[in-house]
Amino acid sequence: MSAVNEALIRDVVAEVLGRLGGSATLSRLAAPAPAAPAVNPACGCPLPVNLPASSGAARHRFGVFQDANEACAAAHEAFLQLKQKGVAARARVVDIVKTLADANAVEWGRIELEETKIGRLDHKIEKLRIIKLVPGVEWLRPDARSGDHGITLEEFTPFGVIGAITPSTHSIPTLSGNIVNMVAAGNSVVFNAHPSAAKCAAVAVRAYNEAIRREIGIENLICIVEKPTLDSFKAICSHEVVRLLCVTGGPMVVKAAMQTGKRAICAGPGNPPVLVDDTCCLKRAAKAIIAGAAYDNNLLCIGEKEVFALDTIADKLMQQMSENGAVKLNASQLDRLTKAAFTFKEGQGGGCAHASTNKDYIGKDVAVLAKAAGVDVKPDTHLLFAETDAQHPFVQEEQMMPMLPIVRVKSIEEGIVASLQAEHEYRHTAIIHSHDVEHITAMARALDTTLFVKNGPSPAGLGLGGEGYLSFSIATPTGEGITNPRTFTRVRRCVMVDNLRIY
Ligand code: NAD
Repeated sequence: MSAVNEALIRDVVAEVLGRLGGSATLSRLAAPAPAAPAVNPACGCPLPVNLPASSGAARHRFGVFQDANEACAAAHEAFLQLKQKGVAARARVVDIVKTLADANAVEWGRIELEETKIGRLDHKIEKLRIIKLVPGVEWLRPDARSGDHGITLEEFTPFGVIGAITPSTHSIPTLSGNIVNMVAAGNSVVFNAHPSAAKCAAVAVRAYNEAIRREIGIENLICIVEKPTLDSFKAICSHEVVRLLCVTGGPMVVKAAMQTGKRAICAGPGNPPVLVDDTCCLKRAAKAIIAGAAYDNNLLCIGEKEVFALDTIADKLMQQMSENGAVKLNASQLDRLTKAAFTFKEGQGGGCAHASTNKDYIGKDVAVLAKAAGVDVKPDTHLLFAETDAQHPFVQEEQMMPMLPIVRVKSIEEGIVASLQAEHEYRHTAIIHSHDVEHITAMARALDTTLFVKNGPSPAGLGLGGEGYLSFSIATPTGEGITNPRTFTRVRRCVMVDNLRIY
């Protein structure tokens, strides 16, 4: 038996004993050389077994580790402590994270923008303030059945330690939202952040752990590798105590997580299409499209990335977009921007479906894109748009820039086919502006996406202006959907035969 296995088994037994208040038979198994159990002098009852104290190496780290294996071991110890302290402690952690994310939103938004150099400060701040919309322990209502043969309870119980990977596009928000969901479900977590967004993530982890230790007495409930690498990713994924993975990012990390052999909840890439027909309110559609596509310079995975508009209303839609703050590029300006924003392999020209996005333009302000396009825009312009064909790189690539391609289509059928093709079967998010229920239904069925938003901006799909709850990890290829505390639980059934039913 490996040392880790022995330690694991000892921990589990000690934890069970702690809950039972001690048992003579089990206490013999709890440690290799048990001392006589301490007793309460008042009544002679055995005192609860103490869990091992934090190893010296893990003390005062406040969750920030150089070594992934140490981080996993510390997170495991914290998980066992959380188990002892019950649901009240989980609820307190949720409260701490929501309160600190809100209180530090301005500072943490600033340091995340400074480090990543992508997105907009106002939205970085807002994304932290809305962590309070992420659901917590109240989400875990057990499912009960009662009948002639007694009662059965299905409970949502924790996995243990979760390994989580976060993106550069919203580092602290994803980390914070993941903590709320995962700890509400009773887990601890080890993060491998994106290398270009890891310093700010470590600042938040340290602050969360300081407060958790002060108020609940648990160290290292939230762990992070200070300098994340592919090796630390592999170490987390292969560590024995890590029972579940949750990755939020593009196609490469989804593929890597699925190859680990561990269960992985994957929040993967998207390229959300928008279809606009001739029955909707074009002013409302234009405003919604601008609000969604301009958000954080179009870094959101759910953000509007390309628009297909019926030919009959395309001019009016673009007019409304111009009247509501977006700026239209002409063909030569679009051409200049395309050459700057994408790289093309030798012998391939603009319009190539396999263009790759130039990182220097991802998540940059409109002013940067406008300069590359050779156009002057007012400082308060938050979105550029241009007419393109359906195969243009701005349509086909998940470009994450505040520049929206608009493609004319002759019919709803053509628009749905083009949307399906541009979405690349990520099954992530699609949007329609229409008052025709047949158009809406046809697109919903054909696109088969995790989120489908009608007549609103994409963030409405995450409870921001629409009904629902928030998460920054939308599990698309693995099918869990918008993650919530239940996503991070094991369902366990407890059956009482013939008794305890009260009528
Ligand atoms: P990214 O894929 O470059 O990085 C995401 C994370 O994965 C980072 O921590 C990175 O270090 C890690 N990573 C990347 N390749 C890896 C590999 N081969 N092995 C191990 N780890 C690896 O993505 P990004 O630029 O940080 O974020 C943008 C992408 O994430 C977009 O595709 C966006 O759609 C997606 N995203 C999805 C959701 C969702 O909820 N579905 C949310 C946010 C972002």
